[in-house]
Amino acid sequence: MQRDSFFQKHPKITRSLKKFIHEYEEKLAPETFAAFLESLSEELTRASEDFAAVPPGPARARKLHELVEQEIAQGAEIEISCKKGCSACCHMEVEITSYEAEILATLVTEGHVIDRGRLQKQSERSLQDGQWKQGIRNLESKCVFLNSEGACSIYEHRPVMCRRHSVTSPAKNCETLDAPITLRYFPRVDLLISAANEDSEMQIGPLAKMLQMKVQA
Ligand code: SF4
Repeated sequence: MQRDSFFQKHPKITRSLKKFIHEYEEKLAPETFAAFLESLSEELTRASEDFAAVPPGPARARKLHELVEQEIAQGAEIEISCKKGCSACCHMEVEITSYEAEILATLVTEGHVIDRGRLQKQSERSLQDGQWKQGIRNLESKCVFLNSEGACSIYEHRPVMCRRHSVTSPAKNCETLDAPITLRYFPRVDLLISAANEDSEMQIGPLAKMLQMKVQA
């Protein structure tokens, strides 16, 4: 399969899977790369069809979470720096799906207490808003689900982007943002997320905006 046909067929793959593909393109002979794209395309289509077999909505999001957790568990031997209480990444903008927004909105409407004022303010910010780049130094950027102990208060229900984010560089780099941050990378997790993104009924957007829309509806 040629590169252009692949990207036309799978326009919603994640940025990191795109980067992974580009790296392979540089390393492989053209015919090997074409065969790699063919097989990747087949896997994406198969995974996308598996998701389509699950009813759209929270059940589909939970299916993705379950499969992603299984993949991540296979890399448990890789040492990561993330620990309970270190929460710099929970002060950055996280993208979620509309199905995940439904899960979070249900928790909130059923009584999970969050700072609705902060949610409102965060939902009005753009992706380019400089406050997001300040990370943990900006308390207004704190995710509304982060509790006073620096832990996720909805851990079992957290979005897929929170599940996949595992840092291998020193944790202090995430706080100071003045040194490189490296992440544990699972190509199959990216493949699953990319396959789930092929769902035309599902939207993707910033957590605060998506949640605010659902709780207001
Ligand atoms: S949902 Fe939980 S893990 Fe994700 S950013 Fe918010 S507090 Fe952090």
